[in-house]
This record gives sequence, structure tokens and C-alpha cells, in this order.
Amino acid sequence: MKRFRSVTIHPAAANCSLSKKFGVEADFGPSPKITDYRQGKKHLFISPKQGDIFHICASLDRRYICCSTHVISHISNCPFECTYCFLQNYLTDTTLSVIADTRAILKEIKNRTSLQPWRLFRIGTWELGDSLAVSPINNAAAELVSGFRKTPNCILKLRTKSAEVEPLLNIDHGGKTVVSWTVNPPQVIVREEIGTAGLDARLHAMRRTARAGYPIGLHFDPMILFDGWEQAYEALVRDIFSAVSPARVIWISIGSLRFNPEMKRKIENNYPASAITAQEMVLGDDNKFRYLRPLRVRMYRHLLHILRQHGAEECFTYLCMERWNVWEEVFGRYPRSIGHLDYLIARSVWERFPGMGPCRPEKTRYLALEY
Ligand code: SF4
Repeated sequence: MKRFRSVTIHPAAANCSLSKKFGVEADFGPSPKITDYRQGKKHLFISPKQGDIFHICASLDRRYICCSTHVISHISNCPFECTYCFLQNYLTDTTLSVIADTRAILKEIKNRTSLQPWRLFRIGTWELGDSLAVSPINNAAAELVSGFRKTPNCILKLRTKSAEVEPLLNIDHGGKTVVSWTVNPPQVIVREEIGTAGLDARLHAMRRTARAGYPIGLHFDPMILFDGWEQAYEALVRDIFSAVSPARVIWISIGSLRFNPEMKRKIENNYPASAITAQEMVLGDDNKFRYLRPLRVRMYRHLLHILRQHGAEECFTYLCMERWNVWEEVFGRYPRSIGHLDYLIARSVWERFPGMGPCRPEKTRYLALEY
């Protein structure tokens, strides 16, 4: 409670286990509907599930080779303040909200995913916030982890910049949850990921989580340029693989800083000390600025090279929101389509982490998927 200036519980969510954690400290009623981005982060609202919340990642764009992850949007806003966070330009009600009714969430997921029992669904909880930022968000995550044991064709993807893994460590996860960290060198964390756990704390949490048997995901996204970035990313990869073995890392995604013109103005307004908008960038036809393509390719190649030097060749590694030509320049090959990438990920999971998927993936079925 101390972390939040107020906690409000919707009366229909009063009996959920998360709500009970707050006892008499909470108010009961509708969302306070805060509109200021920073203020909303300090007020928690626990709500019942109203409507569908399972869908494909909203960033999916057919012009790019997307990983076609699915998401459940049961968290909205985040206590952290990354300067590049798109939420500052997205949320209208900024109250930090969590849907407490895990049973209803799991029911919706089962109803939707049971229609394609052959398909591996990777389902993230980070679309509009951090999966584990603080209690009770991490307690809600632990409830989902337990529920995902009984979803044969689904993997739960938690993604965080926190070290708040305690509720996950002593529960039966059945090997059906991937705990992932967004990672960046300490120079970036301090300047651009305000309020998040430092690198050492993230790595300590990563080590404990891997020891508890969870597969680990790594997201080098957004990679950010600064003087000395090459050495800094080298040190980062070295530190990560001192904490966890590449054998425990199920996948690695790589992406670079991107934002739309409206976001650029927000960043400059909200974080005048940040220099992330000062680099030369190009506006793509998805209306997002990115570093120039040759520079992005150089960054990705450098990172890939270091990852391979540290034994990560077997970890499925992919680019986020890039076209086939960038893939080809970085990897020397590219997936033919979004469905093809979906298949390649499912195949890698099947081969490296047997038991996480429902069956050996059939390429023709994935290629026939429509997005
Ligand atoms: S951790 Fe994610 S959701 Fe939270 S502020 Fe940073 S980018 Fe936004």
C-alpha cells in the first residue's frame, strides 16, 4: 500500500485474492480515472474482468516480420518511467490498473486457444505495463503461472525490468512460463529506465528464476546508441551469461529505439534531460523514427556476434519490427512470412524445451495462418 497514494477496488473484484491483500486500506468504487501520466502510476485500481482481453500483439504489422505473439491486456500503466515508453502517448486513463480475476482470464485464454490445439501460443502480459513491476502485479503473475500449467498449447511470457520475482520462486510452474528481462547496459538503465531495477539486481533475479526451473527470455530492445555502446553491450552480454547459462535461454529478441513523431514531442517534454531523440533518425512508413538502416544493421550484427561468442548460437534469436532486408543483412537469411517465423519459434521450443509445446509443429499449418 505504501507504494501507492491510493488503492481502489471495484466492488465486483472485492472477493478476488489480490483485493484481499489490501484489507481495510483500500477504497471501494470505480476507477479514479486519472489522466496525468505520472500521477496515474501512483494510484492502483483493481478491477474485475469486463470484455475480452486476449488478442494478437497490437504492434503486429504485415509490412514487417513480426513474431506474432499474443497478449492479455490485464495490466494498464506501470510504476516505472522509461523515457522511451509509448504509454506516455497512449493511455487516456493512466490509473495503474490490474484485472484481478485470474480464473476469468484463464477461461478466456482456454476458450480461444483450444480452437487450434496444434498451435503453440506464446502469450505475454506486458502489452501495457511491466509483468512483474511491483506487488500485487507480481502476485497476479504468480496466479497466472499456476494456471498455465494446464494449458497444453500455451506458454505464458512474463517480461520485466524489475527484480520482483519472489512470488514465482516456490510455485509449481510446470515449465510452462518463460520469465524474460528487457536488458540494457547500466548507462542506459540509469538515464532512460528510471525507477527500474539496476542491472545487478535484474541479473540476480534472473539467476534465481533460472534456478527455479523457468526458461529465461532476453530482450535487447530497445538498443540505444551512446558513446561506447559497442563495449557496453559486450560487457552486458558477458554479465548476463555469467548469471545464466545460454542453455536456459529460450529466445532472444533484438530491436532498436523507435517512436512516432508525437511520442518524440512527449519524450522531449517529459524528459528534457534525455538525449535519445537527438540522434539522426529516419521516419519509416509505419510512422516511426528509427536509427538509419546501416547503423541498425551494424548494431544488430555486433550484438549477434557477441552473443555467439558467449555460446548463444542455439538460443532462438530474432529481430523485432524489422523488414526482411534487415534480417538478411544481419542473419544472412530471413523468414518468408510472419507464419514462418511463428513456426521457426515453435520448432525451436519443441527441440530445445520438449514438453512446452503441444506437439511437433507442422510447417504447412503455420504457413497457412492468417494475420
Ligand atoms: S517498464 Fe515498460 S511499461 Fe514500464 S515504463 Fe518502462 S517501457 Fe513503459
